[in-house]
Amino acid sequence: MTRIAVIGGGAVGLTAAHDLARAGEDVTVFERGALASGSTDRAAGVLYDAYAGEIDARIGKRSIERFREFSVGDGFEFHETPYVWFAQAGDERRGSAIREQVSEMCSRGIDAGLLDERELTGLAPDLETNDIGTAALARNAGWTDPATYAGMMATKARKTGVEIRTDTPAALAEAGVNAGGDREPFETVVVAAGAHTKRVLEKAGRSIAMKPYRVQALVLDAAVETPMGYDASAGFYFRPHPDGLLVGDGTEDRESDPEGWDRASDAGFVASARERAGERLGLAEPPVERAWAGLCTATPDGDPLLGWLEEGLYVATGWQGHGFMRAPALGEVIAREVRGESGVEPFDPTRFTGEEEFPIVEGLAL
Ligand SMILES: Cc1cc2nc3c(=O)[nH]c(=O)nc-3n(C[C@H](O)[C@H](O)[C@H](O)COP(=O)(O)OP(=O)(O)OC[C@H]3O[C@@H](n4cnc5c(N)ncnc54)[C@H](O)[C@@H]3O)c2cc1C
Repeated sequence: MTRIAVIGGGAVGLTAAHDLARAGEDVTVFERGALASGSTDRAAGVLYDAYAGEIDARIGKRSIERFREFSVGDGFEFHETPYVWFAQAGDERRGSAIREQVSEMCSRGIDAGLLDERELTGLAPDLETNDIGTAALARNAGWTDPATYAGMMATKARKTGVEIRTDTPAALAEAGVNAGGDREPFETVVVAAGAHTKRVLEKAGRSIAMKPYRVQALVLDAAVETPMGYDASAGFYFRPHPDGLLVGDGTEDRESDPEGWDRASDAGFVASARERAGERLGLAEPPVERAWAGLCTATPDGDPLLGWLEEGLYVATGWQGHGFMRAPALGEVIAREVRGESGVEPFDPTRFTGEEEFPIVEGLAL
């Protein structure tokens, strides 16, 4: 049995901790605040396996499989809901990108296909479809309240023997971690500290190629019948929400300070998301129920930093806006790698030195 510390009680860290303990390891999770109080609690909870790349498709499929498996109690529910994404008729660049994606997805066994206007209207009666040129559907999709995933996973992890310490910031120390002023020995440390991951490693003299960046979402108080969707031409996504309709976008293409960022939404984002979603879903001036910002993490190539960094030290970050929907599989991958299995080679965090200059690119952009 190995003593393992996981720094970060978000969706990824909790999944990894649970999987490690289930495999027989002695695991402690350190969370600086409350569980899920980082990005997980701010995520939109859009879940799908609609990825074109081979590895991404495998990770996406495995995640949805696990979300379904876990959706049997402990307060977590995977709400099966199809996902449509589309481009406007004059937007040939995005239209052809969607067609290519769908063909690649199908070759990887993803349940996706193109939709004609009649099919799209049948699926989404409230959607304004007149100007849509290309539309696609992924059936293996749904949504959830992300905090309930973290709660469910923490319950499962505790039952499997994981010790979870909340309100306990942790720092890397020689052969272990420093938490609450005391050094505690651990043979292995997994840093899954979300937007703080770079900071946690930097304080111990290690550099990774990751930048936190701000994104935003809101909930409109509106009764609307719709699947989940992404309007690629207008650049926003939406999903049904118990209080109406959740709408997201507002990506800031500059690095945020993981401590000192603005947690409130921008007035500009709220006005424009409300207007665009209102037009697309036939809602006249829908009231905004709430709006918020949160952090995502970018890497130079858009792929995660997931795996071994140096002896006894592993890292899990860099999800480019897609960390929650992939958490069940990403946590599983890192748990397996820690236990000696091979990781996902293109996600190897040592492929970068940490000194790279790179732009922040929106995760969902086509
Ligand atoms: C508005 C918005 C919408 C989003 N929508 C989606 C979506 O629909 N689908 C999707 O897949 N993704 C979405 N995301 C991205 C998603 O939220 C993240 O990718 C995901 O939650 C990352 O999980 P994590 O466990 O890696 O990090 P986090 O949830 O950030 O967890 C890291 C934890 O580490 C803790 N921590 C940090 N430093 C320390 C320390 N020194 N010691 C102890 N603990 C520490 C933090 O408090 C935090 O709880 C969205 C993000 C935002 C902001």
